[in-house]
Amino acid sequence: GLSDQKPHFVLVPLMAQGHMIPMIDLALLLAKRGVLVSLITTPFNASRIQTTINHAKECCLPIQFVELPFPGAELGLPDGCENLDVVPTMDLMVNFFQAIALLQKPLELYLKEHVSYPNCIISDFCHPWTNKVASNLQVPRLIFFSICCFTLLCDHNISKYKVYDDITDENEPFIVPGLTEKIKVTKAQAPGFFSAPGWEEFAKELREAEMAADGIVVNSFDGLEALHIESYQNAMGKKVWTVGPLFFYHKDASYTATRGDKATIDANRCLGWLDSMKPKSVVYVSFGSLTHVKPTQLMEIGLGLEASNQPFVWVIKNIEKSQAVDEWLSEGFEERVSARGLLIKGWAPQVMILSHPAVGGFITHCGWNSTIEGITTGIPMVTWPQFGDQFLNERLVVDVLNSGVPIGVKEPGMFGDDNRVPFVGRDDVEKAVSMLMDEGKEGQARKERAKILGKKAVEAMKEGGSSHANMTHMIEYFSINVEKSMAQVAL
Ligand code: UDP
Repeated sequence: GLSDQKPHFVLVPLMAQGHMIPMIDLALLLAKRGVLVSLITTPFNASRIQTTINHAKECCLPIQFVELPFPGAELGLPDGCENLDVVPTMDLMVNFFQAIALLQKPLELYLKEHVSYPNCIISDFCHPWTNKVASNLQVPRLIFFSICCFTLLCDHNISKYKVYDDITDENEPFIVPGLTEKIKVTKAQAPGFFSAPGWEEFAKELREAEMAADGIVVNSFDGLEALHIESYQNAMGKKVWTVGPLFFYHKDASYTATRGDKATIDANRCLGWLDSMKPKSVVYVSFGSLTHVKPTQLMEIGLGLEASNQPFVWVIKNIEKSQAVDEWLSEGFEERVSARGLLIKGWAPQVMILSHPAVGGFITHCGWNSTIEGITTGIPMVTWPQFGDQFLNERLVVDVLNSGVPIGVKEPGMFGDDNRVPFVGRDDVEKAVSMLMDEGKEGQARKERAKILGKKAVEAMKEGGSSHANMTHMIEYFSINVEKSMAQVAL
């Protein structure tokens, strides 16, 4: 059977695309390395990743996708509201997290009754309740971050040195303490990862559950930020395994074309279009899974791309909600750019696109997954952060790695919040694109730095690479030390 002698890891992703996708990659990788994986999901989320589930089956990978019914109705969530990207309002976000926490007992029951006893639980950091599961079952619990150690360390230091106690103006830049680099952010940009009303209590719970964790798994790699990884590990006093870039391992198109969700564009059409473009000439524009770009901003982006004269792939989400945008696109824009612009309305096969040799630049919102995908494919980026960890990720790309051109937003804007969405004009979009694709000395140097980083990323995942070795260590550690009820993993 599936569980013969194999170590058994239970993976509990947060139901948000930016959290589920890397954790599914982690599941596939662990399974390919001989671990039995139980990936905890819900019916709606499982339906989105059906092709991945099929892929795992076809490859006979030892993964069980465990569908627990989502108790959203108990907290007044609409039917099918099982993923952060479909939660309709900010107010309902709290309910969403409360609903997830109700999965504690069902998960414990499942693990007791259905499978071989787990060797460890790897939980998204947003699930403080899995700490109770781990202590009730007496198994070690690791937390998983698809956030870089640079950003985790900044966040940790800001809180440790109580920086916000002295801050009166949330838009006044301060220098992040305890780093070797001089990194400037504002409180508004780096509020801790949640800043919505009612989140302080949750943030406290998260910290406690983080303290209680037996170790930390991070989607990053040594060649990117070795010093920050080490400092973060020392600051936490816990073992940190960096095992990324997690996506890189899966090169087959059948997986990359449907990673995260079914793409709304045919993979062959997309690849054919890219094949027809010159190497490194295309700009890929996408703002992740959560960001809803407002109509006026969206049109400015389009006009900036048009003015740049560069070929582009532009991912647009939720336009069905805006008749104005739909009309604007169909009454001229799409036709004017048809020779060099590919619009994807809905879910894009992002890593398939980024991996294509025609792509030479990426306009990104700096979600960590997108950022590490851009880094790994070796291309420079225009950074356009919106909220959460994204402004700090921008600092890493722009100030530390020197492979980014900032679009210049200073204030955060939460998706769905009309008044606070920062407004960037078409001229700024055009200017950033020209800098990004610049053939001059500065542009070439930036491209070269990005290319070197990409090579390091690829090396890290190969046999003998740092992330490959870290994963081996992690698997062996939890296969051998099962009986020891976990104190803490030695550094
Ligand atoms: N993604 C994708 N197609 C899309 C939008 C997003 O494949 O149309 C993937 C992207 O490759 C990344 C993830 O979804 O792996 C988004 O995560 P990220 O951390 O970049 O941003 P978030 O969505 O969490 O803001």
